[in-house]
Amino acid sequence: MLGWRGSRYGGMLQRREVQMSESRAKKKAHAGVLKGCPHCIYCGGEVLATSIDHVPPRIIFRESRRPKGLEFASCKPCNEGTSKADLVAGLLSRVAPDGVSEAEKAELTRLLSGVSNNVPGLLEEMHLGQRAQRNARRRLQQPVQGGFLKTDGPLVSSHMQTFATKLGFALFYEVTGKIVPMTGGVAARWFSNVDRLEGTFPQSVFDVLLPPETLKQGKFNVAEQFSYQWRLTEGERAALFFASFRQSFAVLAFAATDRSFFDVETDDLMRLVNPREITKFLRPQPTQ
Ligand SMILES: [Zn+2]
Repeated sequence: MLGWRGSRYGGMLQRREVQMSESRAKKKAHAGVLKGCPHCIYCGGEVLATSIDHVPPRIIFRESRRPKGLEFASCKPCNEGTSKADLVAGLLSRVAPDGVSEAEKAELTRLLSGVSNNVPGLLEEMHLGQRAQRNARRRLQQPVQGGFLKTDGPLVSSHMQTFATKLGFALFYEVTGKIVPMTGGVAARWFSNVDRLEGTFPQSVFDVLLPPETLKQGKFNVAEQFSYQWRLTEGERAALFFASFRQSFAVLAFAATDRSFFDVETDDLMRLVNPREITKFLRPQPTQ
């Protein structure tokens, strides 16, 4: 992955606390979402929702300014169990372009410190030495600015895979008004900006996807930070989603109401996740 000129993130770490408060207006809006959908959208319609999950989360957006919309009913284990994946995605969404304002720089510093505190080892895992930087630059065969980051390590992969999977479940609910049922699932993967420059990304998906949408509220929209596209099959039994986050990364997700749709689609990078399994990549793996 390409980002942060000179990979200078290591020197920027500081410990900081972020306080969150919930206003009464917000509580009222949340009650509305839960009334419309009383069940967790990640749990196949079998578990009552007790919280609202914003997908993508506020942390993705500049100064956490996120228009309303794409708010989903979620149980606490799904919501809280994926908050670190949201944090990592918030950080990685800012690798390109570089933030220029003081507020953006301060925000990056906060995200780096948040990741450092909450996902120990992840920033270290992303570090590439000078030699690996040179090799990555040579492999890409085109001039680029900035340094390279390693994003295929287990910590980055598990958090970003979780983030990508959530998008599949959430957007399926958004476009169909239905929860992916227990018989169904989501297969998703993320692509770094380097994956896309190297041509790993299947460009042909754009032939079938509808035009991009984003979140907006009045004149305020966040198209340059987040956009998504989708296509439903007939009968709303399966859907394809693409979401793009700044110039940093993108997500491709398939959701289906029946897992037989996935027979030939999944591989190691695009693993099938059943309802009630959204946190499975983040659980400690048994040692061999
Ligand atoms: Zn759940």
